[in-house]
Amino acid sequence: MGASALCPTPPAAAPTLENLFEFPEGRRILTCIQCGACAGTCPYGEAMDYPPRRIIAMLRAGLIEKVFQSDSLLACVACYACMAKCPRDIRLTEVLLPLMKEQALVNLPELPAELQKALQNTLRYGNPMGESSRKRAAWVPSAGVPIRILHENPAPVEVLWFVECYTSYYPRGQDCSRATARLFHALGIDFAILGNEEKCAGECGRLTWEPGLFETLMDYNMAVFQKYRFQRVVTSCPHAHNAFKNRYTSIGFHYDLDHTTPFLARHLERLKPLLKRWLDLTVTYHDSCCLGRQNEFYEAPRELLRAIPGVKLVEMTHNRVNALCCGGGGGGMWLDTYYKSRGMDRLSERRIREAAATGAAVLAISCPYEVSRFEDAVKVMGFEKQLRVRDVTELLAESMEG
Ligand code: SF4
Ligand code: SF4
Repeated sequence: MGASALCPTPPAAAPTLENLFEFPEGRRILTCIQCGACAGTCPYGEAMDYPPRRIIAMLRAGLIEKVFQSDSLLACVACYACMAKCPRDIRLTEVLLPLMKEQALVNLPELPAELQKALQNTLRYGNPMGESSRKRAAWVPSAGVPIRILHENPAPVEVLWFVECYTSYYPRGQDCSRATARLFHALGIDFAILGNEEKCAGECGRLTWEPGLFETLMDYNMAVFQKYRFQRVVTSCPHAHNAFKNRYTSIGFHYDLDHTTPFLARHLERLKPLLKRWLDLTVTYHDSCCLGRQNEFYEAPRELLRAIPGVKLVEMTHNRVNALCCGGGGGGMWLDTYYKSRGMDRLSERRIREAAATGAAVLAISCPYEVSRFEDAVKVMGFEKQLRVRDVTELLAESMEG
C-alpha cells in the first residue's frame, strides 16, 4: 500500500478539503489570529516543518500542497492539545488534521511500514495486531467470573461492554479486561460482550489516514449492535468512546455511552465498601488525551484512585488539560520506529520521566494503548525498580480482592 487508500472515501456529506468552507467548522479557519498557541503546545511542533499554525496559514494562502509534500502530518499524534488551546475553537484534531492526512496520503510515496501493517491488519482481521477474530474472547475463561457473550445468549442486557482490541488481545490489556469483568460482576451489573463479533471501532483509522477504513468498521459494528437489545455501551477504550460519541451517531448510534472509568465512578458509593485491601501506594495518574482533553473526564479516575484504601495520589507537573501525550494516538502507536529514524524522542519516555520525578510507585492509566507504551518506556529508561504501570481497574480489583 502506498499512495492509495485501503477503502473507498467517505460520503460527500462530510467536509473535504475542497468543500471545507461550506461547513461551519471549515469557515472557522478564517477566524485564526495566528497566535501560535497550537504550535506552542504541540508535542512534536518543533519537529514539524509545518506546525499547526503554519498549516492554517498555508491553507488560507492556497499553499497547502507544500504541507502535503512535507512529512509534518506524520508527526501529529492526535493529542487534542492544539484544539484545547485554540482561542478561536478551531477543531484542528477533530476535523482539519484528519482531512489533511487523508490528502497527504495521496502525496506520500509510502506510509511507514509499521503503520501500514496496522491499518492493513485492521481492515483484514478487525484489529491492528492481525490476530484472528476467533481469539477475541480467548481471555474470558481466565476472568474468574461469568461473562455472557451475546451471540451465545442473545437475551436483552443492560450494558453492552465494548472491550476493544488491545484489551482483548494484548496480555497486559487482558489483565485490565479481567479486572473490569470482576468489578462489574461484584457490582451486580447486568453486562455482556460481543466476543468474536466485535471489531475495532476504527477511531485510529479515522484520525490517522484512513477514513474509508473507519467507515467500513463503523458500518460493520453498527450492524452488529442492531442485532441485540441493550441500553448502554460501556467501553474500555477512550478512542472507541470518541468514535461512538462523535461519529457513530451519524448512522444511528443512540445508546447511552460511557467509558469504564466514569462508569465505575458513578457506582462509587456501591464500590467503596468492596475496596477492603490497603494498598499502601503512592500513585500518579496519566490523563489520556481522548478521555481528558477531548471529553474532560479529569476527576472520575482520580475519585476512583482516592477511594482505594492506602492510595496517596500525587500529580505530575503536566496534568489534566496540560497533560503530556503518550504519543500513541493518530497512528503514533505504530510510528515509533519512524520517529526514531527522524531523531525525534518518544513522547512516552518524556511522560515516564515526569511520572518518575513525582516519586510515585505506580503510574495509573485508563487507556489500553498506554500500558504497552509506558511499560516499554519504563524498561528502556531503567525505571523498572521504581515505577509500575497499572490500569485504574487493576488497582480497584486488587483492593477489592484483598
Ligand atoms: S491556536 Fe487557533 S487561533 Fe491560534 S494560531 Fe492556532 S489555529 Fe490559529
Ligand atoms: S493534535 Fe497534537 S500532535 Fe496533532 S497537531 Fe495538534 S497538538 Fe500537534
